[in-house]
Amino acid sequence: MMKTPLWQGWWRLGDDAGLGADSRRAGLSNCFLIIIALTSLVYALVNAVYFEAFPLAAVELGVFVIVLLALVDMRINRNVERASWVTVLSCGGLSAFFYWYVKADVSAAVWTVFFAIINFFLLGTRKGLPVYLVFSAVLLSMIVYYRDTWPALASGAAWINVLGAMLACGAAAYYQERSREAAHERIEALANRDSLTGISNRRHFMQGFAQARQLLCHSGGKYSLVLIDIDHFKAVNDTHGHAVGDQVIKAIIRRIVSAVRAEDLVARLGGEEFCVLLLDCEGDDALRRAEGLRRVVASEPVTVGSLGVSVTISVGVADGNPRTRGFSEMFADADRRLYVAKSQGRNRVIASGSQGQ
Ligand code: GH3
Ligand code: MG
Ligand code: MG
Repeated sequence: MMKTPLWQGWWRLGDDAGLGADSRRAGLSNCFLIIIALTSLVYALVNAVYFEAFPLAAVELGVFVIVLLALVDMRINRNVERASWVTVLSCGGLSAFFYWYVKADVSAAVWTVFFAIINFFLLGTRKGLPVYLVFSAVLLSMIVYYRDTWPALASGAAWINVLGAMLACGAAAYYQERSREAAHERIEALANRDSLTGISNRRHFMQGFAQARQLLCHSGGKYSLVLIDIDHFKAVNDTHGHAVGDQVIKAIIRRIVSAVRAEDLVARLGGEEFCVLLLDCEGDDALRRAEGLRRVVASEPVTVGSLGVSVTISVGVADGNPRTRGFSEMFADADRRLYVAKSQGRNRVIASGSQGQ
């Protein structure tokens, strides 16, 4: 993929900020990092020149530099995860320091509230919740520790406001993010599953294939792609009807899934064609396991109501080294062998060492 120039789209705060990846978090990190950089720079100048609050100005200048580096780092390395953490931690550190510096004055509430939103939106609820609890615990400890020496705490109103605002904004940001995540998970599940059988569809299989390939490239393992097509399936539909055909497809998938290992990927590519990715498996081993799939389908008729429907499958197997052979090469080989299996009479497995190859 071509990388976009370093600063292209940096002003696009709401979308992928020109980074082209992990779009929502990239856009939000970019947006928050820019806001924190500008805010900390302006505050550093105002605090140094106008209020002569030099320690505060120094911390703000430090945050400005860290955030600027994080922005550059995110654009060069496209590491949105790291940028998110830098954003959250610099905002949290600055808020806590400000809170300590102004002695819990109510003006600190603005920044602690800002932290709630940044935290949950950038880290998500799973990582964000512990971070938020730690941050809240730090503020609470400060309040307890300094309750007799900080003037703002004496009235009670200031810290009740700060804590109230933090709690309300924290809860709002948490629930907003949690419901967004839940909706996203539902959409992902719908987009990845085949609606008839519930197993992975082609799109999800391709993602799983790419991940497995990457892992195997590191570990040095091999893989095999098994391509399956039901024999004479038109005849099943023509004889028993489409609804029975659907039940047969489901039953065959159940048999295939029960015959592979949990780590293998099974998917419906479309129609009555399926595929299995066997991990750490090649040669005779792949052939034996594909043969096992053929046998488990042919072993007994599929029962649909009172009907018994006998079906068989034809199978093409391709194996390879993930470092040199990707999906298209493996698929082309497996597809060619599946065609050979069909032409040799069906209900058989053809792999690299089989006759006819
Ligand atoms: P072959 O042995 O050569 O594969 O013969 P075949 O009849 O199985 O031929 P082919 O694989 O080309 O036929 C696929 C048929 O599967 C055509 C279509 O009617 C049927 N089919 C595809 N998807 C579905 C489905 O979701 N449900 C049902 N019931 N039938 C389907
Ligand atoms: Mg077919
Ligand atoms: Mg077929």
